[in-house]
Amino acid sequence: MEKYDVIIIGSGLGGLECGVILSREGYKVLVLEKNKQIGGNLQTFSRDKCIFDTGIHYIGGLEKGQNLYQYFKYLGIMDSLKLKKLDENGFDIVTFEGDPTEYRYGQGYDNFIEIMSGHFPEEREGIIAYCNKIKEVCRNFPMYNLNPSGGDWSNIAYHDVSAKEFIESCTTNEKLRAVLAGTNLLYAGEGDKTPLYTHALVINSYIESSYRCIDGGSQIAILLQRNILNNGGKVLKHANAKKFVFEGDLIQAVELEDGRRFEADHFISNVHPAVTLDMVEEGKIRNAYRKRINSLENSVSVFILYIVLKKNTLESFNCNYYHFVKPDVWEGVSYTQDNWPHNYAVFTGTSSKENGYADTLISMAYMNYEETKEWERTFNTVGYEDERGSSYEEFKNRKAEVLLEHMEKRFPGLRDKIYRYYTSTPLTYRDYIGTRDGSLYGIVKDYKDPMKSFISARTKIPNLLLTGQNLNMHGVLGVTIGAVVTCSEFLGNEYLMKKVKEA
Ligand SMILES: Cc1cc2nc3c(=O)[nH]c(=O)nc-3n(C[C@H](O)[C@H](O)[C@H](O)COP(=O)(O)OP(=O)(O)OC[C@H]3O[C@@H](n4cnc5c(N)ncnc54)[C@H](O)[C@@H]3O)c2cc1C
Repeated sequence: MEKYDVIIIGSGLGGLECGVILSREGYKVLVLEKNKQIGGNLQTFSRDKCIFDTGIHYIGGLEKGQNLYQYFKYLGIMDSLKLKKLDENGFDIVTFEGDPTEYRYGQGYDNFIEIMSGHFPEEREGIIAYCNKIKEVCRNFPMYNLNPSGGDWSNIAYHDVSAKEFIESCTTNEKLRAVLAGTNLLYAGEGDKTPLYTHALVINSYIESSYRCIDGGSQIAILLQRNILNNGGKVLKHANAKKFVFEGDLIQAVELEDGRRFEADHFISNVHPAVTLDMVEEGKIRNAYRKRINSLENSVSVFILYIVLKKNTLESFNCNYYHFVKPDVWEGVSYTQDNWPHNYAVFTGTSSKENGYADTLISMAYMNYEETKEWERTFNTVGYEDERGSSYEEFKNRKAEVLLEHMEKRFPGLRDKIYRYYTSTPLTYRDYIGTRDGSLYGIVKDYKDPMKSFISARTKIPNLLLTGQNLNMHGVLGVTIGAVVTCSEFLGNEYLMKKVKEA
């Protein structure tokens, strides 16, 4: 049997990035992916000749000199990416039911301050204080600033400060508070949980610069895979890892659902930590560790409406919309059946065939996994088609119609422009990504108990490491930093960060 230095389970962004880094440093690497398509949340799908993103709508920090630009340069993909910059004077637009104003986020801090102060002339001081604090928080995260950190985020400042309270400390103006928190769907913000650093790291990255992938985010996965292959590594699809095979305290091999086994000296799991531990037999890991990981709360999931528009009916827009039906922006996750959706976001794809009109819209609203429990025994991905039944179709149609009703109020005339729509639910994300509940962004961070949700790349098994969105931060930037943290366990953080900086 061929033996590898490192086997990576899962070809999500973090798994592929670990594959590039380690193969480039001479490790013999194999990436195992259960699906037909690599990329996890980077996957795209196509309907009616239109491409839809599933988990990457826009990316921050990609301008020359910015953090993600440098990481992607090091990973060897920056120069090949097809990107479009979002509107510098309004890449994100926050709106509220009953208020006609479109509150715009500008790119670049000076521009952000100018545009936001235009909306709130009396609040300029507070807006400046808000921006300064966001920048200060970000300065405290070494790898976010391309500096070595020893790979440990656990001792970093601002873990125990609330994002909501921080925003409230900048201004007493309720509307400005709501606008500054208005894109919190980006991190499933909750008033009594979200730490300031989560808000700051995400928002700063997008204010610095915001880009969309032309024809979808799967290009990132394809480019990373290309680099793994060029470095002599392998990526195997339809390879569903089921259990680890032990020799003493160390993992010797991973066994797939179809019985194939692959041996390696080291293993990295890009799968949710709790699901990873399901692959570890009893007695091989302390029960306290398993219990702790299993007890961690996951972020909410989503219902998504993928709309194919009639040709040449909706002028294309180069921004994202965050709309609130209810005024309390921190309460979206706690919606009830009666007031769903509390809020939703609207994105559009960027096509290489762009002709001034949008061909797609994606609308995303929170949805708890519990709403889909009735169908949880079904499983459905390309290649494993298992009808969930007509009651599921009715459920999805009902939800789609409610969401469309709200969208029609925000975007009058929208319904007439729709050619066809498709939907996804928490079960879709559960099945494609391999989580238990289709969680959007993985383990919830809570400023009141910051250490509880801190996940180290190291596990209690000496040759098993973790990577992916549950490590430090979700999102393209957070996962990329996480992959470097994981690979630092092999190569040293100082060494790797030097390579990143010099790329
Ligand atoms: C709806 C949505 C919208 C988002 N929008 C944005 C955005 O606009 N910008 C942004 O920066 N971030 C966004 N994110 C977050 C971002 O997509 C994720 O944080 C990131 O892609 C997660 O990467 P990951 O490395 O954790 O891998 P994941 O994407 O979680 O992938 C894990 C991989 O492991 C595979 N796998 C699972 N189990 C097994 C197994 N047993 N054997 C083999 N393979 C297995 C899965 O099939 C999958 O390919 C969004 C997320 C969602 C869900």
